[in-house]
Amino acid sequence: MNAAATSIRFFNTLTRRKETFTPIEPDKVRMYTCGPTVYDYAHIGNYRAFLFEDLLKRWLEHRGYTVTHVMNLTDVDDKTIKGSQKQQIPLEQYTARYTKAFFEDITALNIKPANHYPKATSHIPEMTSLIKTLINKGYAYKVPDNSIYYAIKKFKNYGKLSKIKPQALKTGARVKTDEYEKEEAQDFALWKAWTPEDGDVFWETELGKGRPGWHIECSAMSMKYLGETFDIHCGGVDNIFPHHENEIAQSEAASDKPFVRYWLHNEHLLVEGRKMAKKFGNFYTLRDLLKRGYDPIVIRFLLLSTHYRAQFNFTFEGLDAAGAAVERLRNFVRRLQDANGKGSGGRIAELVRGVQAGFGEAMDDDLNVSVALAALFDFVREVNALLDADVVSRKEADEVAGLMQGFDGVLGVIGEVKTEEALPKEAEALIKQREAARKAGNWARADALRLKLREMGVVVEDTPQGVRWRLEKKS
Ligand SMILES: [Zn+2]
Repeated sequence: MNAAATSIRFFNTLTRRKETFTPIEPDKVRMYTCGPTVYDYAHIGNYRAFLFEDLLKRWLEHRGYTVTHVMNLTDVDDKTIKGSQKQQIPLEQYTARYTKAFFEDITALNIKPANHYPKATSHIPEMTSLIKTLINKGYAYKVPDNSIYYAIKKFKNYGKLSKIKPQALKTGARVKTDEYEKEEAQDFALWKAWTPEDGDVFWETELGKGRPGWHIECSAMSMKYLGETFDIHCGGVDNIFPHHENEIAQSEAASDKPFVRYWLHNEHLLVEGRKMAKKFGNFYTLRDLLKRGYDPIVIRFLLLSTHYRAQFNFTFEGLDAAGAAVERLRNFVRRLQDANGKGSGGRIAELVRGVQAGFGEAMDDDLNVSVALAALFDFVREVNALLDADVVSRKEADEVAGLMQGFDGVLGVIGEVKTEEALPKEAEALIKQREAARKAGNWARADALRLKLREMGVVVEDTPQGVRWRLEKKS
């Protein structure tokens, strides 16, 4: 498909409105997404962001764009240093454990890998050079302890992303921690001079002995891999201030060019109706859910099925419903393999056109995935009815299967659907007994056998083609 022929619109946090997406280079998209801080196992709120970004990338690719995606790994900051000291192991060893876990998690969630995963600790020279530019241009200054700060009053557009008013800023006051509230907006640390609390974490550079602040890491690494101006930058809404506001200030002051054209931010995740927090007992890493036996693909489906700009309430009932929805899609694809009817007389072609338009228009409209999924499940229901009536021809079924494969390139939840599954011997016997009971009109016995099979993890369905069975996913 020709990317230029489509019209994708995104809600741009910078302008607070939906805009038609036009990349700098035709058919190519350069995109940066703030990656994990590898100080702990990532929680499901983190994965909501990473799954939204995966959906975004897959949709752009579906529409014909070639996407260059960079996701950084924050492996030195206040949190990683604190964590490694608590466990009394070197920073590198500490972050390596969580970096490995992160890659295992995204593989389990079927998240497409980025083109580059730059580590902050491998880009100290790029950061020091950026800070030097900022000093030379008068945007940064050194304080008596040798740390270097960004002077926000020097950058006239400070606040343009988060919409904070410059007059409210306490200019001249300084904040050294990486994270702080809007009300505390002030000069922030670009370079943190070594203090005994940093232990053995420091670099000897032209700027002195110390380490970078968190914000400069993303400015330096994004511009290195994507250029001074690129198309899309994503993150959670909590990154708007101070992280992304500071990235803009650093990058644009250094380059005198616009940094990013489209800023996309996903909303928070709630768990059982409230903010996820260890103190509320509703804090889940992906690993916590996998330990409980949940299928990562079902978690994937649940976390991406709500529009990214809507608050999402995670519940275990929602997870069960997501499991049923994924099964419905897989069963549908499985059923298509058996179709051999005389043809629907154009009805299938009409439904295919309808779902392509419905799904496509919804996704083009700022990734409105819930509307797109509604169109998809309507389509599945209608084609299932035609399969029940045994009118779908082999050719039509192949066309629908190809279409489903295309949708799954975006959703990433159906995968390879196997028809040849091994049925336990005793289940085979029970299915035969149940068939006999049905033929004899003994519905009570047939139902009892169905339940017994269900307990063995075998789901039976009666279709016009006869009895179908499938193994229930263990979850
Ligand atoms: Zn970042």
